[in-house]
Amino acid sequence: MGSPMSADAAAPPPAKSPGGHIRLTSHSGGSQAPAVRWGAATAAERGPIVGTTNRAHRNVIGTHSGAYGVYRALAVAAGALSRDHRADLTNTAPTDVIGPHPQWRDPAAIVSLDPWGAMVADVFAEQIAAGIDIRPTIAVTKAQVILPEVGEAIRRGRLRPDGRVLLDTGAALVTKAALEPVWHLPGVARRFGCDETDLRRALFEETGGMYPELVTRPDLEVFLPPIGGQTIYVFGDPHGLADPTVELTARVHDECNGSDVFGSDICTCRPYLTHAIEEAILGAQRGGVGLIAYSRKEGRALGEVTKFLVYNARKRQAGGDTADQYFARTECVAGVQDMRFQELMPDVLHWLGITKIHRLVSMSNMKYDAITGAGIEVGERVSIPDELIPADAQVEIDAKMAAGYYTPGDVPDAEELRKVKGRELDG
Ligand SMILES: [Zn+2]
Repeated sequence: MGSPMSADAAAPPPAKSPGGHIRLTSHSGGSQAPAVRWGAATAAERGPIVGTTNRAHRNVIGTHSGAYGVYRALAVAAGALSRDHRADLTNTAPTDVIGPHPQWRDPAAIVSLDPWGAMVADVFAEQIAAGIDIRPTIAVTKAQVILPEVGEAIRRGRLRPDGRVLLDTGAALVTKAALEPVWHLPGVARRFGCDETDLRRALFEETGGMYPELVTRPDLEVFLPPIGGQTIYVFGDPHGLADPTVELTARVHDECNGSDVFGSDICTCRPYLTHAIEEAILGAQRGGVGLIAYSRKEGRALGEVTKFLVYNARKRQAGGDTADQYFARTECVAGVQDMRFQELMPDVLHWLGITKIHRLVSMSNMKYDAITGAGIEVGERVSIPDELIPADAQVEIDAKMAAGYYTPGDVPDAEELRKVKGRELDG
């Protein structure tokens, strides 16, 4: 591909850069970088993902921690963090071993995370001892979660503490994991049905030229994108996830700060999430396992500023906030209805070895199609109970059902969509 980018003479040298000049990663180099064979059968054959900033060892584009990589740079710039800091991984090992599963050996099954990411300190111990700075991209721990909705379900008799999954205090015991995005660009391009060169060019140009190696280093196939990752919460024994004979209750949930955290009534995100947690606890108590997979894709991955602009546009339009205009208003502002693109979502399910979801707590046809399209069997689909839908969120849920979301009831027609109306901005 084209000639390597030359260092920009106009740019002032960073104060702490060794030698006082900028070393662009777009130059060839990294002669000591370990090779990556995506989808290889073992960790040793696959090779480590080296996203730390030691130029000689790097074998990826981008760096660790997703969007937080920018804060790391700020910490270095502010003098709060040494560029040479090496993570001490003593006692950080996963509380529960996940995998390896057969899906890890399929280069097409997982393209957006590193299946070996939780166990690098173990499987790449030799390389780490030899001085290569290899960081985990996945961490697995245990916690207790205490939610007011779970307490309410206990008071109403829907949930019963059993001392195993749910304590008398109302705390639910979970295994949870945080996953950073690790993209294999050829696989991501295939998943979206686009050309890898076009994907690289769009990623380069639409981030304002943030990663020149996207276009100058086709030999680097792995990209650590500056985006949010995923969190999973497992209720019951995580080893049951990969066993299709163990009942699995699962929800894949996309972040909604306004509702999930701050309790906004304009959508069903938090009530559906807490309903799924209740179902996950019940499933685990029946001897199954429950799973919540939470993706950082705020406001349909359009971001919260766009989301709030859309709220204003919906509430102020002629005729008020009606279900028949729900998607149109988003498209006016953002140019698309949704940018969550569920194509990469099933990867986390493959990482967990899941082949069957007995009860999918979701009405989204896009999520259902992505999961079943990835070869994972889905049994029952569990919709949100009507009594959990806030009055102002009826606009959202009706518009979604008319657009293809699963519902065991009637799908609203055009006439009904015109009638379903949310409250006004200051209502
Ligand atoms: Zn929401």
